[in-house]
Amino acid sequence: MPKKYVYYFGVGKAEGKADMKSLLGGKGANLAEMTNIKLPVPPGFTITTEVCNYYYANKKKYPKELNKQVETALKQVEKDMGCNFGDYKDPLLLSVRSGARASMPGMMDTVLNLGLNDKAVEGLILKTGNDRFVYDSYRRFVQMYGDVVMDLKPKDKNQIDPFEEIIEHKKKNRNITDDIDFTSEDLKELVFEFKAAIKKETGKNFPDDPMEQIWGAIGAVFRSWMNDRAIVYRKLNNIPVEWGTAVNIQAMVFGNLGDTSGTGVAFTRNPSNGENEFYGEYLMNAQGEDVVAGIRTPLPISELKKAKPKIYKQLDQVRKNLEHHYKDMLDVEFTIQEEKLYMLQCRVGKRTGYASVKIAVDMVKEKLINEKEAVRRVEPEQLNQLLRPIFSTKEKEEAVRDGRLLAKGLNAGPGAACGKVYFNSYDSVNAKARGEKVILVRIETSPEDIRGMNAAEGILTSRGGMTSHAALVARQMGKVCVAGCGTLDIDYLLKTVQVKGKPHLIKEGDFISIDGSTGEVIVGKLQAKPSEILQVLIDKTLKPKDSKPYSYYSIFMKWVDKFRRLKIRTNADQPDQCENAVAFGAEGIGLCRTEHMFFGGDRIDAVREMILAYKEEGRRKALDKILPYQRKDFVGIFKVMAGLPVTIRTLDPPLHEFLPHTEIEIRKLAKMIGTTVDEISYKLHSLQEFNPMLGHRGCRLAISFPEITEMQTRAIFEAAVIVQKEGIKVEPEIMIPLISGEKEFIEQEKIIRRVAAEVMKEKKMKIKYKVGTMIEIPRAALVAGKIAEHAEFFSFGTNDLTQMTFGLSRDDSGSFLPNYIDKEIIERDPFESIDKEGVGMLMEFAVRKGREVKKDLKIGICGEHGGEPDSVEFCNELGLDYVSCSPFRVPVARLAAARAQLKKN
Ligand code: PEP
Ligand code: MG
Repeated sequence: MPKKYVYYFGVGKAEGKADMKSLLGGKGANLAEMTNIKLPVPPGFTITTEVCNYYYANKKKYPKELNKQVETALKQVEKDMGCNFGDYKDPLLLSVRSGARASMPGMMDTVLNLGLNDKAVEGLILKTGNDRFVYDSYRRFVQMYGDVVMDLKPKDKNQIDPFEEIIEHKKKNRNITDDIDFTSEDLKELVFEFKAAIKKETGKNFPDDPMEQIWGAIGAVFRSWMNDRAIVYRKLNNIPVEWGTAVNIQAMVFGNLGDTSGTGVAFTRNPSNGENEFYGEYLMNAQGEDVVAGIRTPLPISELKKAKPKIYKQLDQVRKNLEHHYKDMLDVEFTIQEEKLYMLQCRVGKRTGYASVKIAVDMVKEKLINEKEAVRRVEPEQLNQLLRPIFSTKEKEEAVRDGRLLAKGLNAGPGAACGKVYFNSYDSVNAKARGEKVILVRIETSPEDIRGMNAAEGILTSRGGMTSHAALVARQMGKVCVAGCGTLDIDYLLKTVQVKGKPHLIKEGDFISIDGSTGEVIVGKLQAKPSEILQVLIDKTLKPKDSKPYSYYSIFMKWVDKFRRLKIRTNADQPDQCENAVAFGAEGIGLCRTEHMFFGGDRIDAVREMILAYKEEGRRKALDKILPYQRKDFVGIFKVMAGLPVTIRTLDPPLHEFLPHTEIEIRKLAKMIGTTVDEISYKLHSLQEFNPMLGHRGCRLAISFPEITEMQTRAIFEAAVIVQKEGIKVEPEIMIPLISGEKEFIEQEKIIRRVAAEVMKEKKMKIKYKVGTMIEIPRAALVAGKIAEHAEFFSFGTNDLTQMTFGLSRDDSGSFLPNYIDKEIIERDPFESIDKEGVGMLMEFAVRKGREVKKDLKIGICGEHGGEPDSVEFCNELGLDYVSCSPFRVPVARLAAARAQLKKN
């Protein structure tokens, strides 16, 4: 049997189905599925993603079986459609579209109306009796084919599309402004001029042979997998290059056949706020590209109900069937050809974080899905969006009263953003690199703007609807977006934006504020305030019952907690941080970095005094001054954590980090502790290290100066006694950083246990506690078995473990690591997501060796990776007991842990 590279769909039966996305791409798999459930889908076929991989692995050649399989499928399309490809009298026209496994909106290429040539045009005119439509289709085809297949598309913003130039020229000559006003004669001339331009620019003739056209278009779609935009998009969305794209070839249906035809895009529910309402846009007498490109402003789908009730009814029925079948919110593309509805695409719809949670919860109530499925439906990062800031109503009202409301557009991507205006991607990226907050302002965005959108806090466009490129991509990126703000007059050359009748002239670099939840655009800065969920949980300025987003969040998070195995802790070192983390659902502290406490108030002076002391006696005197501060901090933390486990790490960073570096500060310190400037400068100099990250830090400090561990242990236990006396349970876990073997641990553990016993004896009270260690040096992971004979718990410090496994400085790698990612030498920044192959291997080894010695050894992670969903999943696989992350990441980690466990089962 030859390998199957082509899958057919048409007339109620398809060879593929929805779960074949990796082979057929999302679009191909769903076209097959819609065909199978008897929705009206024009017939066609999908060339698999395997062909894309073959194409790149074999110098852009196709497998030998492909030609024949395409021909056979094409014959079947002709049969189903009752007309032939390349026929002069009644030609079959085709669309050729990309379709990767994950949706990559607008990143790759498409060719429509394929199969037309000068002769077929005559036949089509005879068949339709509509020469304007035929020439319009022909000129669109030549333009698209010229741009995409013959490579005339502008490569950057400074180049002009030769076809657009010809169109503009003709409009001027004819004294018209809209494409719709071209006569069929104009369009015919355009085709002629386009072809001449192609010949002039490429030296090649436009191909008349439909088979040559089809193979040209297939090649162009495969090539577009490797265009710059697609590569950037894949990187941003972690889509592996090996996935490849499929190619979908399908019979054309026409939305531009007059007033009974049209085209549209819609969501089966509102993608912005999750409301269960049909939501979308359509245009009569138009082709799909007109809706997406934002050239004509589409009408809301609710208008279709009034204007064409019969078509609306069909469409609404399709909506119901689709949701019932897929049990999810979908986005669809449809075309109406002379009152008959055709479905051209359906896929799971992108939605905001809030919409995602709301739809999942509502669908459980509607019995479409169960709680487990609801949890699977929400991406961990989407929860982050729910926690995003909003503008204060009062301040916004004041701004509006002051006449600062510049305009109102569509609320395309919720949240509040304030920043400086930039008009293109390049300037936005540079401004962001300078540390500025950016609002990218464009007439409309295109896939070329992806870098600028990524750099911006918010995106504002004057054209395009809720499904425009800007809206779609912003929602996916979780960016604030106001789209289709039609009153804005944006001038790219002058770099200004203004609104007729308003006094403001906004220039590049001026501040504006955009509200992606209401669509308002406000001149100047507005302070953003926390989301409703934060207002309920953290600020306590809103009652739970008064907030709809909160009520959905809380129902959803209850389900999340039902399904996870991993505990979620937090990295926090102040009582208020702990309070926030507990409100977000933290179940303990995984890392309290005690050195952070050294910077509060004027305690840094005592710390400096301790460092500058030459003898133990001097150090002890200074440490005595620090002790009450630390004790007070621990009391605060233990009280907030009320019996939850609290892991406290002994001092970690190199000492020079605590010393003053400016001359004024040095002088001040010298005066305060009664020494000379020279003395301090000398000490500073002597503490300087070539590689402080590999130097005198972590337990190495405490080995040199055991009195530091003594003081910290005393502070912890005295605090524990105070709190326990108040009837609050306390369970400190003391953690030793940066050990490379068991001997360092044993030495430190001895001190801790001695001082703990002393305090307990003095205070006549027993405190339950544990002594454990961080595993953050590769050697420690390798000798984990020996360490486990002594330590009561492990916590992976994956920041250091990554740094030391790669030999990559945490502080310096920023200057060259992005280049590694660009060149695909590494897939992701290993400081962001655990490098499973290397660092992960060490972790796996340490867990195994540790638990061979102590079956129930408690193991967690407290590096930054503890709040990153893929790393959380990895930790779940390793069988860790908990992950620990920053307070605001706790909800994300909870969800990631639940999803990881559901995936495992
Ligand atoms: C780590 O190394 O992962 C860790 C948590 O410690 P720090 O970031 O403080 O070095
Ligand atoms: Mg560390």
